[in-house]
Amino acid sequence: MADHQILIAGGGAAGIATAASLHKRDTSLHIAIIEPLTARYYQPGWTMVGVGTFKKEENARPTRALWHPK
Ligand SMILES: Cc1cc2nc3c(=O)[nH]c(=O)nc-3n(C[C@H](O)[C@H](O)[C@H](O)COP(=O)(O)OP(=O)(O)OC[C@H]3O[C@@H](n4cnc5c(N)ncnc54)[C@H](O)[C@@H]3O)c2cc1C
Repeated sequence: MADHQILIAGGGAAGIATAASLHKRDTSLHIAIIEPLTARYYQPGWTMVGVGTFKKEENARPTRALWHPK
């Protein structure tokens, strides 16, 4: 198991933003994010699903696609 200096629970908007902000300040930090969901749903997109502009499946992206390891 890898050693990390910072552990963030939740890889949503706040978790990703916090990790990115910390990394920007100190690129030597070892940061881990625990996120149980493998798919992310674009929350504002649900409005479009509701009115039939998007299909539900089109509103999902793999969680990994939203994270950018250094
Ligand atoms: C329908 C809808 C439309 C929206 N439209 C907009 C908009 O147009 N503009 C805007 O700015 N905001 C919008 N929002 C709000 C925006 O999506 C939220 O404010 C934002 O996602 C909150 O970020 P967060 O990191 O707090 O929570 P989230 O992004 O929900 O992230 C929390 C993460 O924690 C994870 N988690 C939960 N429990 C655990 C656990 N025990 N251990 C580890 N991980 C865990 C979850 O899986 C999730 O990935 C909308 C929300 C909804 C529902």
